[in-house]
Amino acid sequence: MLEIATYGDVQRLHFSTRRSRAAGYSVSCYAVRGVVIDSAFDDVGGELLAWIAANPPRGVIITHAHDDHGGNVERLARAGVPMQMQPDTAKLLGTPQTRGWHRHWAWGDMPRFTSPWTSFESPGLETIAARGHSPDHYVVWDAERETLFAADLYLSVKVKVAHPVYREDVRQQIASIRGVLALKPKRVFDAHRGLLKDGAVVLAAKANWIEETCGRIDALIARGWSDRAIAREVLGRETMFTYATFFDWSRRNFVASVRQTGRQR
Ligand SMILES: [Zn+2]
Repeated sequence: MLEIATYGDVQRLHFSTRRSRAAGYSVSCYAVRGVVIDSAFDDVGGELLAWIAANPPRGVIITHAHDDHGGNVERLARAGVPMQMQPDTAKLLGTPQTRGWHRHWAWGDMPRFTSPWTSFESPGLETIAARGHSPDHYVVWDAERETLFAADLYLSVKVKVAHPVYREDVRQQIASIRGVLALKPKRVFDAHRGLLKDGAVVLAAKANWIEETCGRIDALIARGWSDRAIAREVLGRETMFTYATFFDWSRRNFVASVRQTGRQR
């Protein structure tokens, strides 16, 4: 299903399926300055391609290699739609991935990116590294209109679960958020929640919450607590969602990420 909303110069293309909604998921691409940001997920590829055929953009910018942002990259390459993505994102999309059943179920298959593709220029839009959510996470900045397309930088203030350590760096998100806030964005579009009310304020709240939570976790690590015990104490019990995803998303992973990056400091 595709729902379209317009915010002045920005169009929100909000994609979901009955299945993704049942899992509580949807995702948005944004059309701005004749460019589309992100490619949604495999199950809505037909709808995305139909919209693009009717409203041909200069090209599509991909913010990171997750299923719900880079899910149609192979399809776009085959259709000859120019794309812009950073080398690490292209590499991840071209690498065979182990995907949990919940990702298949909610988003569909994700064909590996193997086809040749062409890049394009996007005047007025700058891609900025904002890693942490994933090792290849980027946001898109429209300096003239003081507008940030934040991809998955926000999601919500308190995201208490994380992917395994090799894929998500919780602590790095603090610097990424603050770096982006230094640009003083007036409008912030989130890939899941749409146009955020008080975007800069809620992003700052998120950075502060992560920083404070990392501080509490660091203190318990110093006292020799296990990841499991710390997760329970600081973040609360794991939910059914964690068990259903076989710990792909868990509070324990959040703590493990903090422990791992603490060692590296
Ligand atoms: Zn993501």
